[in-house]
Amino acid sequence: MSPGALRDPQQRYVRHSMLLLFALSILATTTAAILHAFEPNATIVNRVVPALMAVTLSVVMLRYWLEPSSLQSSVWLGWSIAVAGLAAPAWGALWTALTSTQRLIEILPPITAGLLPLLLVPVVIARPRHAWWATACAWLAIAAPVLFYLASHPEQLWTPRGLDLAIAFGPISMFVPFLIPLLRGIERRIEVLQEDGERLQALADRDALLGIYNRRAGERFLATLLANRPTAHTGILVLFDIDHFKSINDRFGHPAGDHVLVECARRCALLLDSEDVLARWGGEEFLVISPTGQRSGALIAERLCTALRASPIHPVGIVTASFGVTCLGPNDTPGQALQRADNALYQAKAGGRDRVVVAPVD
Ligand code: GH3
Ligand code: MG
Ligand code: MG
Repeated sequence: MSPGALRDPQQRYVRHSMLLLFALSILATTTAAILHAFEPNATIVNRVVPALMAVTLSVVMLRYWLEPSSLQSSVWLGWSIAVAGLAAPAWGALWTALTSTQRLIEILPPITAGLLPLLLVPVVIARPRHAWWATACAWLAIAAPVLFYLASHPEQLWTPRGLDLAIAFGPISMFVPFLIPLLRGIERRIEVLQEDGERLQALADRDALLGIYNRRAGERFLATLLANRPTAHTGILVLFDIDHFKSINDRFGHPAGDHVLVECARRCALLLDSEDVLARWGGEEFLVISPTGQRSGALIAERLCTALRASPIHPVGIVTASFGVTCLGPNDTPGQALQRADNALYQAKAGGRDRVVVAPVD
């Protein structure tokens, strides 16, 4: 697996987005470095800082590419480098303007365009409280001193560059933090939708009468187990069917039949391990999938069989069931394994019911 390969689609999406963000930052700083390299009369700061930023951002990107777990620290490191890369020339120009006759609007490097993406990055990647702090710090480090200078030098403010800076560093920058609640609102809405989806999925997997898994979920568990089991002989199927259930309905009525189903499911669930799956396979037919195979299938089925006949179910009396058991074979498809369990169940019925029959793996 290459360092960049991740299985989870969500993680992959975040990783690709962050690598793209790094690549775009490096492209922007490299472009600035090239332009300043050809600029006549470029200051040393303008020549060095963008090139230095491009190199350090490339190193940070490489670190993140090689070590995906460094996501948070790499992104914050890259972001801090970018803040320092804009703040340093701004403060340098301010110092020169304050200590000489040069005007800030003429010597301030073209950092206006860099500020907005810099403020946006924490809004997108960070928790709201961190995003507020980060945008505030970046704004205070880069924009506030320039605005303060312009406010105290109106003759420079009322020029095209002065107004451009005042608007970009003032109202347009202010606009960014207000995206934080908007984005968080969208995020919360997505979380609610995800929770709704999980709740609906859980409901769709359950039998409405018995509360245990339904056939659809049972089929999925079996297919997943066959696809992912650690060894070719792991897993047991127990298929069982309540005996003479039709006559229970006929003699005691459908609600009594329903009650028998609920009580049978309850007794079986109590005896199974937490990793076992109990699913209603049909009307009065149930499937147990035991994924570990640590206990023998015959033992599981015998215990269930005994528990059902152990005490009467009111008002019906003693209820029994017939059991077909099989281990999952090395080359089994779900259909083949189920067919063997079903054949064994058929033999248990034919053999007189209220018994367990084990089908050997072919
Ligand atoms: P066997 O011992 O051979 O299994 O006979 P049986 O009477 O149990 O089997 P049969 O297939 O003849 O009858 C099953 C009955 O189960 C028929 C159907 O009306 C009833 N049944 C299916 N689902 C439900 C349910 O949810 N509630 C109730 N009360 N009865 C149901
Ligand atoms: Mg039956
Ligand atoms: Mg049946």
